[in-house]
Amino acid sequence: MSAVETQAIPLGGPGLAQERRLVTAIPGPRSRDLLARKAAAVAAGVGHTVPIAAVAAGGGVVVDADGNSLIDLGSGIAVTSVGNAHPRVVEAVQRQAAQFTHTCFMISPYEGYVEVAEALNRVTPGAFEKKSALFNSGAEAVENAVKIARKFTGRQAVVAFDHAYHGRTNLTMALTAKSMPYKSGFGPFAAEVYRAPASYPLRDGLSGEAAAARAIDVIEKQVGAANLAAVIIEPIQGEGGFIVPAEGFLPAIAAWCRDNGVVFIADEVQTGFARTGAMFASELFGVEPDLVTTAKGIAAGLPLAAVTGRADIMDASHVGGLGGTYGGNPIACAAALASFEAFENDGLVERAREIGEVLASRLEAMRAGDPRIAEVRGRGAMMAIEFVDAEGRPDAALAGAVARASIANGVIVLTCGTHGNVIRFLPPLSIGDALLHEGLDVVAAALAANRQEVNS
Ligand SMILES: *Cc1c(COP(=O)(O)O)cnc(C)c1O
Repeated sequence: MSAVETQAIPLGGPGLAQERRLVTAIPGPRSRDLLARKAAAVAAGVGHTVPIAAVAAGGGVVVDADGNSLIDLGSGIAVTSVGNAHPRVVEAVQRQAAQFTHTCFMISPYEGYVEVAEALNRVTPGAFEKKSALFNSGAEAVENAVKIARKFTGRQAVVAFDHAYHGRTNLTMALTAKSMPYKSGFGPFAAEVYRAPASYPLRDGLSGEAAAARAIDVIEKQVGAANLAAVIIEPIQGEGGFIVPAEGFLPAIAAWCRDNGVVFIADEVQTGFARTGAMFASELFGVEPDLVTTAKGIAAGLPLAAVTGRADIMDASHVGGLGGTYGGNPIACAAALASFEAFENDGLVERAREIGEVLASRLEAMRAGDPRIAEVRGRGAMMAIEFVDAEGRPDAALAGAVARASIANGVIVLTCGTHGNVIRFLPPLSIGDALLHEGLDVVAAALAANRQEVNS
């Protein structure tokens, strides 16, 4: 066996050496072996961004089977916000797994589920009486929010926005805007889903009020408030490009919903749980959604999702209308409760704000004097840069090249955007400043090297 093959796999968590370390090219031989087995055994439609075999992660790094240590600026898509293998989470999961792994909450209820519901009712925006229901994935939470809104209003239509991403199930594909790769060839899609123009200040130049008026006009003319059960929107659009709506857009849409008996659903699956420097992004825009969908950051990677909102709306369904075999699994609930403790006791909302200040200043410095970066935007530890070509058109090739070069140099970054021309930064809130700066140094160097290549 080679030295690489005999090397011990480290335990994850914050004790993992917090360093960028490349001992092979990416992917190294052991990662290449796993990727070959993946290609043979796993359906081709399940892609991957970072060509490694992950074996441990924690703090701000992901370690691969070859012993490379990559700086993590993606958190597995905004999931491991408290940090991978966080000690509180590991302990809670181990304890719960040793007690019981499943009863089905619809058969024999248990305290963990109720505690998660109580916590969500407390921490989500709005002082009104709330209730929650737990599910397994963000898409499932969105499906259930729509079910609940339809039952409550007795209406069928749902409005989603340009650049929206709500998941990959049939209803959520219909709600999602982008065809490739999420929808192409997978139709027909669910009925009674309509699309309104979003607020995208870089591209539309509209004030929040003007963008909301434009959207409301489309909704009133093409759907009609009397037919509309719900409007669903991400307070900051995630997969669509980390698009921050103009000031006033979300409150105007929420007010119109209130005036017309339409349920206003904030999809906070990506923005939730301290990510944006607030517990929920809705708070940043002064809106109190009727329903909030959550998942991703809720349980440090254990599969859990929720719908939380006004008690009268949440109670609209008959008994047995909501649920699922695994929804609110006890181990996932234990992980969520440990995560909530970390969010509240480890000062992670404040940490997200600090990370946001570092990201904003470093990314603005990259943008200064570089016309290829059209905009730096986002909030807290959810920031992005949008790339354009010399004519101001979306430049997906550049975003892809910079992301690939960063990964090859040991920094995990993700792209996004309707046009694929955005690089997003979603570091775990457990990352240290030194590692964060080093990760951004690598991205900046990849961007500079790309310009030299083009010019030579
Ligand atoms: C990721 C995401 C979803 C879907 O969540 P899954 O857990 O992948 O089903 C829904 N909405 C938003 C805003 C997301 O970012």
